Amino acid sequence: AGTAARSYDIAAVPGDGIGVDVTAEAVKVLDAAASRHGFTLRWTEFDYSCERYARTGAMMPDDGVETLSGFDAILLGAVGFPGVPDHVSLWGLLIPLRRAFSQYVNLRPVRLLPGTTSVLAGRRADELEMVIVRENCEGEYSTLGGRHNQGQPGEFVLQEAVFTRVGVERILRYAFELARTRSRRVCSATKSNGIVHTMPFWDEIFELVSADYPDVEAEQCHIDALVARMVQHPDRLDVIVASNLFGDILSDLAAAITGGLGMAPSGNINPERTHPSMFEAVHGSAPDIAGRGIANPVAQILAGAMMLDQLGEAEAARSVETAVEQVLAEGRVATPDLGGKATTEQLGSAIAAAV
Ligand code: ATP
Ligand code: MG
Repeated sequence: AGTAARSYDIAAVPGDGIGVDVTAEAVKVLDAAASRHGFTLRWTEFDYSCERYARTGAMMPDDGVETLSGFDAILLGAVGFPGVPDHVSLWGLLIPLRRAFSQYVNLRPVRLLPGTTSVLAGRRADELEMVIVRENCEGEYSTLGGRHNQGQPGEFVLQEAVFTRVGVERILRYAFELARTRSRRVCSATKSNGIVHTMPFWDEIFELVSADYPDVEAEQCHIDALVARMVQHPDRLDVIVASNLFGDILSDLAAAITGGLGMAPSGNINPERTHPSMFEAVHGSAPDIAGRGIANPVAQILAGAMMLDQLGEAEAARSVETAVEQVLAEGRVATPDLGGKATTEQLGSAIAAAV
């Protein structure tokens, strides 16, 4: 405050594949925004990744969580490597960090950016603006359960999901609070006709919480009906709240009907700020285009804008978003997924210059 220079300690974890390329561009753009708005980002880079796993047998060192906990925020690229199973990167890095840092909100805003077209013909940008609020710490992503009678005719597996009252209530309250800053509409996605314990429990708490928000239109949908509606009638949707698994699926669909995975940012947020929040593109390490310098850095740059917002630098966040919109609208510098020939570095530099 006052005359003291503002500065933030940020951990950069570029990870694997295109995570490395797009994180470098996000750092460049965020530094430009920081210098324009009078603050400093002090970056420390960590090599936590599947590449590190292949070398050492661990995604991150034993004190990785403790080390990262001292930062104001974390910018994560992507983790994933051909030959390293997906569950290693999930359970070796992402899930431990989300849980240790109580990042119980996974926020995934989607909108149709200028210069891009939706696969849904004829949809206006304002009809495709929504945000998926995904529960990020419990639910279906659980290690409880096991395989029984292996190799026998009666073989079966059990997989348990865990929904706590505290966990469900806090994510629903977050969604309602967020709706108050947007359209005042919340849609909750469950499947209570098929899944008879966890989902009705979620619905019951949704009813209770919605009573505290009479000014917000509250709607409950079955996940199967909702995915159809997202494609056919997305215009009435705005804040969508869902469990860990459903939220993950919905956000990939939402990204696909807007600008695609190269444009979709996300934040793993600890709303109480007791631990750092972590920001990342929705996409993965994209082994098919890794090392070619052609990945679209926009998702990671917008994840960086979400990080600035969370740090309290809202004006700088808006500068980054405006710069992205301006460069995309001009359309001169575009990566192949946007129909252009530019490299990751060229698009990142163009956005940094626009900031
Ligand atoms: P991971 O296992 O790390 O999740 P993946 O194989 O699931 O990797 P994604 O990164 O999720 O791959 O990407 C899915 C598809 O979208 C790939 O064809 C990829 O090339 C494309 N894609 C993802 N991100 C981008 C991007 N930033 N720019 C361009 N194309 C992208
Ligand atoms: Mg993936």
